[in-house]
Amino acid sequence: MQERNYLQRFFGHLKTINHHRFLVMKTCFKCGMYKQGLLHDLSKYSPQEFFPSVKYFQGYRSPISKEKEICGYSTCYLHHKDRNKHHWEYWVDRKPKQPVLYAYPMPYRYMLESVIDRISASKTYKKEAYTNAEPYEFFINSTEYKVMNPKTVSQIEELLLYLKENGEEKALEYYKSLYKQNKDLL
Ligand SMILES: [Zn+2]
Repeated sequence: MQERNYLQRFFGHLKTINHHRFLVMKTCFKCGMYKQGLLHDLSKYSPQEFFPSVKYFQGYRSPISKEKEICGYSTCYLHHKDRNKHHWEYWVDRKPKQPVLYAYPMPYRYMLESVIDRISASKTYKKEAYTNAEPYEFFINSTEYKVMNPKTVSQIEELLLYLKENGEEKALEYYKSLYKQNKDLL
């Protein structure tokens, strides 16, 4: 793996997040999700998220994975998931009077944004190797799959499987109709 200097990593990361946000915005707009498309992942430009990401930039996967590998946890991600409702970890809290953490189901509109996020991140990192099956395969082989709320898991799994089996154009039409019907639902 080629070593990159600070400036290469700085602009490499800036390009990656701009590209990712552009893909998410375009896809959200196709689904009628204008506000979420515009506001997606803005906290990535904050110093708390931007500079750790430059430090751990690799280009072929998220710098958060690298930071977790080296430090055991990611300060960048802890900051990010607390400010972005499209991450299921945002919806983790204790249940009243119980000494356990609980993953609440994601409200529908944020679950849908997370599906679009997953598709766009797969495209950003897989580049030419991306296929419509990739986001589904990545999700069902992940460890998060096992600790998320089961309702959210089955919603995301269904939507990504639909993409795998029907292609992107049909999937986005389907997501758009679902957004219209369910945007105010838990
Ligand atoms: Zn995010």
